[in-house]
Amino acid sequence: MTAVEEHAPAVETFDSRNPATDEVVGTHPVHTAEDVRAAVERAREAAGWWAGLGFDGRAERLRQWKGVLTRRLPQLCSLVREETGKPLGDAQLEAVLAIEHVAWAAKNARKVLGGKRRSPGMLLSNHTATVEYQPLGVVGVIGPWNYPVYTPLGSITYALAAGNAVVFKPSEYTPGVGKWLVDMFNEVVPEAPVLQLVTGYGATGAALVTSGVDKIAFTGSTATGKKIMAAAAETLTPVVIEAGGKDPLLVDADADLEAAAEATVWGAFSNSGQTCVGVERVYVHERVYDEFLEKVVTKAREVRPGFDQDANYGPMTMPAQLDVVRRHIADALSRGGRALLGGADAVGDRYVQPTVLVDVPEDSEAVREETFGPTVTVARVRDMDEAVEKANATNYGLAATVFAKARGMELARRLRSGMASVNAPLSFAGIASLPFGGVGDSGFGRIHGPEGLREFARSKAIARQRFTAPINLTTFARTPKTDALVAKLITVLHGKR
Ligand code: NAD
Repeated sequence: MTAVEEHAPAVETFDSRNPATDEVVGTHPVHTAEDVRAAVERAREAAGWWAGLGFDGRAERLRQWKGVLTRRLPQLCSLVREETGKPLGDAQLEAVLAIEHVAWAAKNARKVLGGKRRSPGMLLSNHTATVEYQPLGVVGVIGPWNYPVYTPLGSITYALAAGNAVVFKPSEYTPGVGKWLVDMFNEVVPEAPVLQLVTGYGATGAALVTSGVDKIAFTGSTATGKKIMAAAAETLTPVVIEAGGKDPLLVDADADLEAAAEATVWGAFSNSGQTCVGVERVYVHERVYDEFLEKVVTKAREVRPGFDQDANYGPMTMPAQLDVVRRHIADALSRGGRALLGGADAVGDRYVQPTVLVDVPEDSEAVREETFGPTVTVARVRDMDEAVEKANATNYGLAATVFAKARGMELARRLRSGMASVNAPLSFAGIASLPFGGVGDSGFGRIHGPEGLREFARSKAIARQRFTAPINLTTFARTPKTDALVAKLITVLHGKR
């Protein structure tokens, strides 16, 4: 042992494991608060260099990153599969959507965030008015495990395109994917630590929140989101919170029932139901309830979890979630609910069988709380007003899906959610120009699209006087005559009945 090793503090590490086999996928350091602060300090220097590249310089690097991600897609997908247990096709789908976002943010940052002229108005018409969107500096991104590529990149990509440096803390279940993404970025941006990784448990995330970053972009559970917001309040550090959901799907009497059933089954069971915008509750017009339900159960019977090539979805990534799913199913059944598929025995040691629940009271946990498992409740409603009322009777408000011919847009608007899709499941998530985020317990702030770029920039207003106006309003030398003129002017401008 060398002298340095003898005196170097032991670095605590943790393993990420394949949830289907328990095999160790990788070993990573548990970064301390001191490590995190040091990373943020390095990021602050890098931020100046990165901002100095300008929109075009950054766009070029982001395009190079996109190319590397795309060319090494199989490598990324197999790592995602190992750490989450999801099928390769699903890993590819999330990576492809994330790459679309990198492309969109790189292409549109200048247009959205570049300086813009505003009208100075009549009273200050001797000025030019401009607004610019400047980078915040260093953004801390804290991510979950369920979509370890798509979800954190939704913040990271937009923060980088807006000119910020980023310190990223991935979930302790998917640190390998986080590391891979950061390593690929550093290949194309070797000059400065513009995107850094810190790994560990919740404490490492908590240290990032209080490390002096200029903003925290958090994606994860509502409970953690509340803790983060409380901690960030100490230093007035702004936060964007992308939290949980209990998303409804509405089926109107004139809907394409085949498509609605397909969307329900995929929306509820894909990724083992571990999707923040997954379908957890369905409200169906009474005229088509029986026919729809039969289609859902028939299709759901064909769906099977496993880790083999043909499995439709994988194990629960986080073993603790099995208890939540078990509890929600038990609560539903004990209060008069019936399982048309799956049920009490659906929850195994790693896998949960698809579960379709009916007659579940609206105030039960299975209807009110985020289950985050492959279960769905289906309820009959008199009409779509009742469907909207029941869908909105939750504190969550992330996304929603509507299947209807005549009233699709109207119903989508009336749902209390940040996002909605009509006649297809989850399509808003694949459209890079649309903002992503929720209301209520699902959080606030937006990633993706122009709103996502602005989330990571501060608006700077500049008024420049071009010439001295005949009437000077901002001087003690202002005369009663000037005041009288101003009063006359404002009456002409705004005083009409
Ligand atoms: P989680 O809240 O347990 O953890 C998320 C991240 O926060 C992890 O990296 C974790 O280490 C970190 N963390 C934990 N405690 C912390 C603390 N006190 N301070 C700072 N960081 C802390 O969530 P999860 O189980 O990883 O993810 C699942 C949840 O994420 C679900 O509720 C799901 O709906 C939600 N989610 C939301 C979206 C969205 O866009 N709205 C997307 C994906 C997942």
